[in-house]
Amino acid sequence: MKENRKVKPAIRDILSVNAAKALDKGLHLMGRQGTSLPGKAAIDISPSILALLSSQIKEKTFAVCGTNGKTTTNNLLCFLLEEQGERVVCNRMGANMVNGIMTAFAQAADHIGRLDAGYACLEIDEAAAVQLFPLVRPDYLILTNLFRDQLDRYGEIDTIMEKLGNAIDTVPEIKLIVNADDPLSVYLARQSGHPYVTYGISEKTSGSGETGTGEIREGRFCKSCGTLLTYDWYHYSQMGMWHCPRCGLSRPNPDYEASGIMTEQGLCFMIDGHTVRTGLSGFYQAYNILAVWSALSEAGRRETAAVTVQQLVSRYHPQFGRGEAFIIKGRKVVLHLAKNPAGFNQNITAVLEDKAPKNLVIVINDNDQDGTDISWLWDVDFDRLSDESVRSITVSGIRALDLVLRFKYVGIPVKVEENSKSAVESGLAQSSDPLYVLVNYTALFEVHQMLKRKAKLCHIFNRT
Ligand SMILES: [Zn+2]
Repeated sequence: MKENRKVKPAIRDILSVNAAKALDKGLHLMGRQGTSLPGKAAIDISPSILALLSSQIKEKTFAVCGTNGKTTTNNLLCFLLEEQGERVVCNRMGANMVNGIMTAFAQAADHIGRLDAGYACLEIDEAAAVQLFPLVRPDYLILTNLFRDQLDRYGEIDTIMEKLGNAIDTVPEIKLIVNADDPLSVYLARQSGHPYVTYGISEKTSGSGETGTGEIREGRFCKSCGTLLTYDWYHYSQMGMWHCPRCGLSRPNPDYEASGIMTEQGLCFMIDGHTVRTGLSGFYQAYNILAVWSALSEAGRRETAAVTVQQLVSRYHPQFGRGEAFIIKGRKVVLHLAKNPAGFNQNITAVLEDKAPKNLVIVINDNDQDGTDISWLWDVDFDRLSDESVRSITVSGIRALDLVLRFKYVGIPVKVEENSKSAVESGLAQSSDPLYVLVNYTALFEVHQMLKRKAKLCHIFNRT
């Protein structure tokens, strides 16, 4: 437990928290997603409020960074702690910049600026980390992976790594939890000079991407000496059993390992002698669960980690388009967010793990939040969707025509629809087979709302 600090919020802090709470309530009454505005109002009134509230966390603060898997990892960690009766501050809707995190703290605080919470689970955008880390002072940084994201939003991976390195340096006591299979994450951890532990998958699995498929491996050069890394195998992207033939930098033996991974009927695997069965699809989810396991173990909750991960992961329902499933007109509809090549390739793997016939809808926008450069679509292995189980593909979104061109190059016919609504309708009309919907960022909210509404209507209809 952390040192018990006596916190005396000033009048300004109390005003700040109450302004955020009032704004949050007002936005909810208006049916709006008030994830960032209340936080902004709070900080405008009292710039020190975030540090004041986060200093009241009694046990541990976890920061979750990385290109893919942040929301799932963070929300699962929060879910497992809450199931054990802990009070947790969490930005579960994924608003991961300063204002979004401030909103989460304001929601959790009482009206006089006091916080009664054991843990904070904070998904943090890599670009905002350097500003946030000194304020929230994480005990642990869980780094899921480092892939190339939308090009024009973040620039090169080197820039992201530098920003994260600077953020880590602001918290001398921080410990890192990184993926051993990702050479970029391991390099960052070593360079940081901070203590770190690793997790990984030390066996080749049926869920792994095949080598030589042309899957993008942006981290394939040794960060230390620039030599092309040698791999015994890849799980996907640059994740796998790697070593540098020149300088000897190599994948560390993981402190936490998953084994016996099966993906055929929902992801199932072993950690430390415990079987983990999940309703989640996608090999990559094993990494997210393993990261959560490592974090709980490191935070001194290894025993409870064993019980909860084993029993509770199957009860965890992914939120907001991270493999979320709906039942509409008697068929399964699964929504996946796919915003960069590594994420997209993993979602294609998840779709193909379901061997049954299926239809597919893909929606790609190029609004500011998506990144306006969508050339990364050419790094996605769309040719794998020529699988006979994929009965139809419907594309839509602002960049639907780029998708048409991309699919033309791999010889797969697609249907174009004017908007995401008509695309989903068209997908549902193809057959009674499951429908998989892959969308990028700005299409997510719209499609999510639509599926939720349809699933609810369907539920009401079935009851009457
Ligand atoms: Zn090297």
